[in-house]
Amino acid sequence: MKLSVIVPLLNESENLPELYKRLTSVITKEFSDFDREIVFIDDGSSDNSYSIIEGFQTNDSCIKSIQLSRNFGHHNAVAAGIDNVDGDFIVVMDADLQDRPEDIPPLYKKLSEGFDVVYGVKEHNNTTLFKTIASKIFWWLLGKISEQEINANQSSLRIFTKPVLKALQKIKESNRFYAALFCWVGFKQTSVKVEHDKRHQGSSKYSFLKLFTLAINAIIGFSNKPLYFIFLSGIFILFLSLMFFFLLLSGFNNPLLSLFSLITGGLILVSLGTVGIYVERLFQQSLNRPLYIIKKKSGFDVP
Ligand code: UDP
Ligand code: MG
Repeated sequence: MKLSVIVPLLNESENLPELYKRLTSVITKEFSDFDREIVFIDDGSSDNSYSIIEGFQTNDSCIKSIQLSRNFGHHNAVAAGIDNVDGDFIVVMDADLQDRPEDIPPLYKKLSEGFDVVYGVKEHNNTTLFKTIASKIFWWLLGKISEQEINANQSSLRIFTKPVLKALQKIKESNRFYAALFCWVGFKQTSVKVEHDKRHQGSSKYSFLKLFTLAINAIIGFSNKPLYFIFLSGIFILFLSLMFFFLLLSGFNNPLLSLFSLITGGLILVSLGTVGIYVERLFQQSLNRPLYIIKKKSGFDVP
């Protein structure tokens, strides 16, 4: 049996030594009779994260590393990990110790009850008030709008079996949002409540723009409801316009009419933007570029 742990990271040099210590301590103790690998995916760090990982590799054969040629984004870094591991059980976790290595054994225990995917659900959001509110709105909207049933407040920490790994390796989608993709692949899934600690050191690598783009992509990628919503609001506005037209003909003039024109203008822009985002996804997919480019790979049997 083999356990693979995938850790995507960007500029996490301050967290890597503590993560390495806690993670290796947990998995050597709790998975002692397993073959083990920890695959660090350096997503274009500009600090010395990669040389720290190379340091771990000099005296620990379990450590493997992939250095991407630039920053491709968290979810693409996870994809690089998924494409390069071959464990019977696979863990994905963040590098900033918000996901606790000590939660891997309880997740594995749950998986052993006959599940294929077990993910952590955050008990508390140990982050800024803004992020907590934004994440609540995001999960609520995604839950309402998506065609899959997606549990709210998922952490990045999850464990899954080889059949799920094989299914994920076949996905060709260029915009990834793994919480939803895991639901999409199916299999028997459940969750375990986990503590989501404060980031150990440093600050979040998700800017507001990155978070916003991820949220929009997640919603667009897992639902076509926005398109139907636009269609129905178009019919509604058409109906209202006709009504106002006849009111104008009969001599009714009111500032409300100007407000209506303004709102209609705004809605048209939002609708155009929404359709544009769907078209942009199609365009990105048609380019067929790889999700990530590997600059250096080390510790793997097959280079
Ligand atoms: N990360 C990454 N590439 C990016 C952004 C983030 O590999 O472009 C990694 C980051 O180092 C961390 C994980 O993804 O291991 C989650 O990022 P972060 O903790 O900054 O996100 P937050 O918890 O603030 O949402
Ligand atoms: Mg974090």
